[in-house]
Amino acid sequence: MKALITGGAGFIGSHLAERLLSDGGEVVILDNLSTGRLENIQGLRGDARFQFVRGDIRDTSLVQLLAAECDTIFHLAAAVGVQLIADDPVRTIETNIGGTETVLAIANKFGRRILIASTSEVYGKSESIPFREEDDIVLGSTSLSRWSYACSKAVDEFLGQAYYQQYGLDVVIARFFNTIGPRQTGRYGMVVPRFVQWALTDEPICIYGTGAQSRCFCYVQDVVDAIVGLMQCDRAVGQIFNVGSSEEVSIKQLADRVTELTGSRSVQEFVPYEVAYGRPIEDMMRRVPCTERIRNTIGWTPKTNLEQTLRFIIAEHR
Ligand code: NAD
Repeated sequence: MKALITGGAGFIGSHLAERLLSDGGEVVILDNLSTGRLENIQGLRGDARFQFVRGDIRDTSLVQLLAAECDTIFHLAAAVGVQLIADDPVRTIETNIGGTETVLAIANKFGRRILIASTSEVYGKSESIPFREEDDIVLGSTSLSRWSYACSKAVDEFLGQAYYQQYGLDVVIARFFNTIGPRQTGRYGMVVPRFVQWALTDEPICIYGTGAQSRCFCYVQDVVDAIVGLMQCDRAVGQIFNVGSSEEVSIKQLADRVTELTGSRSVQEFVPYEVAYGRPIEDMMRRVPCTERIRNTIGWTPKTNLEQTLRFIIAEHR
């Protein structure tokens, strides 16, 4: 099998590429390197079954050329990161909606099964914990600062479902919750790599808001297992799946654990969101996935707990 991974030079995509190659497949990555990095895929270059193409998902003729010679498409390319989407909402919408529409139309032209990477942010400010796939997704009730990302991903889901319903295209939608692991950078506001870097250099750990907001962090290799399993499962086609861990931790507790595991002397500083981001940003207090659907469909549950995952990340940064 030959897979096209859009956004494959990014954090999740590069781990997915490694997995598909180690399973004996062939991989083509299309990435414009906006947030992705060549270092992420350095180890793959030189493998005859691997090809990297620098380009944009909105380049129709390029995507056509690549999709024509692949069997499946993992569509992960997107504008991501709290800071980036707040600074550049127009690019976020253009990439995430326009780009996804291009990739879907081409997948449909060649009849390729496609996975669309969505996000827990489509649940907006819902307080109905845990979030279930059948819940309403709350387009109107997400804060303006996050609207471009949450809503563009929600539109991607609608687009994917429209192609499935109208043309019978094999579309699988994965709503990722917070995913962490080696290669994730703190440059775009990702909390875990930042905390680890600050802790290892004994710098103050900046906690935005009160730190009472919580997240469920899932190890990237577990997320890759989920993606690969879903794409191999005919029953997954046409459905939406939460992909995440149920182990919930507050951001303050996360800072405590990172400090403990690194033996850091960092102090904790609480910084208001508007100071941190230069504009008011409303955060969701909790994001907890219900993972019954994916468990019942492909038998997936995360294998790696938060502590093990933090140890892997700390080892990478040391
Ligand atoms: P990432 O930034 O590391 O990966 C995204 C990749 O897409 C980057 O390599 C970037 O260069 C590429 N890209 C962006 N715009 C492009 C364009 N126009 N053309 C070609 N390439 C382009 O982020 P990630 O964490 O690996 O995220 C992968 C996917 O998973 C994204 O769709 C993201 O929305 C989704 N997601 C991630 C998380 C998470 O916690 N990491 C959570 C929810 C959803």
